[in-house]
Amino acid sequence: MECPKCQTTMKPNAYKDVEYDQCPECGGLWFDALEAEELLEAKDAAQIDTGDPKVGKKMNRNWEVKCPKCHIPMLPVHDIEQPHIQLEACAQCHGTFFDAGEFKDFCEETFWDRVKDKFASKR
Ligand SMILES: [Zn+2]
Ligand SMILES: [Zn+2]
Repeated sequence: MECPKCQTTMKPNAYKDVEYDQCPECGGLWFDALEAEELLEAKDAAQIDTGDPKVGKKMNRNWEVKCPKCHIPMLPVHDIEQPHIQLEACAQCHGTFFDAGEFKDFCEETFWDRVKDKFASKR
């Protein structure tokens, strides 16, 4: 499978039985449908995002990308609670692509949001 952003062959990898693909060139992460959600449940999932966030930011501007599986244009998705994070999703296979640093950002903020929620519920 080719990286939708830089066309480098992505390397299959796995973390806690969840499979994903990582681009050795730009550090982007590809997840098949629901794999990202499964991973977000895992503690320390952020560590799989080993790419350079600076490269990820550059790649983030290039969002006219095609799904590496279906070859149809992917849709830019902004997380409602974290609008600075923009990932790409395929409407057909529901695969998602995170630029380097985005998945980490996503995990960490989700974690802190949960901590904040805990504080809020105590009041
Ligand atoms: Zn790439
Ligand atoms: Zn697709």
